[in-house]
Amino acid sequence: MSLSLIAKSIKASPTLALNEKFAILKEKGDPVIHLGGGEPKSPVPMEAILATASHLNTGEVRYAPSDGIPALKQAIIRYTEEFYKRKVQPEHVIASSGAKQALMVALQAILNPQEEVIFPVPYWVSYPDMVKLCGAIPVPAMAEDGTFYPRLKDIEDRVGSYTKAVIINSPNNPSGVAYSEEFISDIVQFCEKKDLYLIMDDIYHRLIFDGKKIINPYDYAKKLDENSKLIIINGVSKQYAMTGFRIGWAVANKKLIEAMNNIQGHQTSGTSVLLQKAAVGAINGVQSGVENLRATLENNRNVMIDLLKSFEGVKVTKPDGTFYCFADFSVYSKDSNKLSAILIDKVQVLTVPGAEFGMEGYLRLSYCGSIKDINEGIERMKWALDLNSPNELYIGDRKLTRDWA
Ligand code: PMP
Repeated sequence: MSLSLIAKSIKASPTLALNEKFAILKEKGDPVIHLGGGEPKSPVPMEAILATASHLNTGEVRYAPSDGIPALKQAIIRYTEEFYKRKVQPEHVIASSGAKQALMVALQAILNPQEEVIFPVPYWVSYPDMVKLCGAIPVPAMAEDGTFYPRLKDIEDRVGSYTKAVIINSPNNPSGVAYSEEFISDIVQFCEKKDLYLIMDDIYHRLIFDGKKIINPYDYAKKLDENSKLIIINGVSKQYAMTGFRIGWAVANKKLIEAMNNIQGHQTSGTSVLLQKAAVGAINGVQSGVENLRATLENNRNVMIDLLKSFEGVKVTKPDGTFYCFADFSVYSKDSNKLSAILIDKVQVLTVPGAEFGMEGYLRLSYCGSIKDINEGIERMKWALDLNSPNELYIGDRKLTRDWA
């Protein structure tokens, strides 16, 4: 079959593929534990459900403006004022089908073929493929010191005449680390100086631990006019546990938002009005659910980190936020796909191979599930990998005997 060059260069989303695998195993009745998940399980805010239900009850579910209904834009404007201390206008805002589409249309609006986009390693699995979908070139930037904390120099060293944009995601998926104020300030000023787009993927910005403060990139910007190339991405998926509602947004200069809307208008005619109503409900509603989720995740993080510390040879960097931990399992194997396959095949624990995030020997483990799953998942992993553990393990009434080394 003849496929386009772009289609041939794109991989399936590994995290979505894992979710499917989990669903199939679960359906079969297998006692599988999902430590690869990317969505909190807390309840969706009641205001979101009521707003959707009451709109659905009108029976009038029609096309909406492709860049978002006015009420959602207003909610995003208020959110931007509260969390970014910045007053923007409706023309600075576009609502999309998830932060994913907001990122995608932003990239389509700014990239020409062969141009380059730099982002720190480890990176969210979709960045390289999103850039490739635009015919452009992803440029992952590994920190020189091998840590999860990039410095300006790590980015600067990769800037060339084709560089068009930098993407920063903090707190970061998969490492969970929040970049320092110094780094954010440096990168904002550097991109201004070099006239590069800076895309801040802030999807986890309120899910932050240990009393750390949310860093606001606008605080460091000097050129906040209509030529500003700072793009803020955010959404309801993570903070309100509304992944299935598919609402995200971008805030940027008016011309860019207009271009993004032109693209989005042809792609999807915008996102469903029902789901936009839900997002308005969540953003304008009682916010205690976000704090409850944040506190639960912080506690889950502590439990997971403690369990991993007792895992000989495994190195962990304490996450500052998100619900992921990116642990170094290279003492067991440098091949993270192989490690992940052993864990699912032998002890039915789902993890995401580090290779998908640009670092071999690592596994991404999620702590957005229950404490029971975290405890049992890590216990099974330890049994599977640590050859000093007893030869047998019970999962419910199933007896597993280790037949591998
Ligand atoms: N950015 C990052 C870093 C993410 O982890 C995700 C979701 N996994 C997204 C963007 C996309 O989120 P949404 O569900 O809003 O499309």
